[in-house]
Amino acid sequence: MNNPMSLEGSVIIVTGAGQGIGRGVATLAADLGARVVAVDMNAEAVNETADLIGEACVALVGDVADPEFPDRMVKFTVDTFGDINGLVNNAGIVRAAMADKMTRETWQQVIDVNLTGVFACLQAVGIYFKEQVKLGKTGLRSIVNISSDAGRKGTIGQINYGAAKAGVLGLTMSAAREWGRYEINVNTVAFGMIETPMTETIRSDKFRDKYLSQIPMGRMSTPEEVAKPVCFLLSGAASYITGQHLSVNGGYHIGF
Ligand code: NAD
Repeated sequence: MNNPMSLEGSVIIVTGAGQGIGRGVATLAADLGARVVAVDMNAEAVNETADLIGEACVALVGDVADPEFPDRMVKFTVDTFGDINGLVNNAGIVRAAMADKMTRETWQQVIDVNLTGVFACLQAVGIYFKEQVKLGKTGLRSIVNISSDAGRKGTIGQINYGAAKAGVLGLTMSAAREWGRYEINVNTVAFGMIETPMTETIRSDKFRDKYLSQIPMGRMSTPEEVAKPVCFLLSGAASYITGQHLSVNGGYHIGF
């Protein structure tokens, strides 16, 4: 039987692939047969990802918040691997401050990367996907946008991040509605607490027990574990799923 989660023959772009979840997704996608363009603004990190994965992966250094980057990313991918079948909009940052102390600059930094950057990459890849459909080309076409429990339940000390991640849910549904008739799947994966450099502070002894007590499964997760549902949404196994928000959080969204 064919493996419905195979990505054999697919070309997948993963943003923020220099470390953490993005590196985990890039690695698993390649293991499942995809050729991967690993995008990150950190050149050293993303080159390391490409070296670790091997010839199925090529690094592209760039900033998703740079308005000129998304078109460059699409062109680079098509020039390198001949097509695009999936985009994982994963690059993200945190810039913490309580709501009453948050400067306009700090607000905007997070919106630029976590919301506008996600939109711009989705738009550039969506335009490419639509062109391919109009040319009569077949194949997988899937966009997975990375959100967070912060976008569903809010946050304390990260109102910019919560707003951006809630915005990702909105743009996912709009794009899914607009592009459903082209068989372009657009979904969100909303993570809980994953062990990456981003969550080092929150995983410290000061906060750890409080967070764990709110997770029904009582544990955090790893990039390797959470890459699997992302790759599922990129695969043919998810061909009739669109506009969905999949919580990958050990049940945090239902709590106790
Ligand atoms: P991370 O900080 O470990 O890695 C993020 C990567 O994105 C880094 O390599 C960084 O260089 C890159 N990046 C940042 N800004 C960029 C930009 N403008 N252009 C290109 N690359 C950029 O983060 P992570 O924990 O792996 O998180 C990945 C995604 O998952 C993020 O969108 C994050 O918000 C989301 N998320 C993570 C958790 C978690 O618990 N780790 C929870 C919920 C959501």
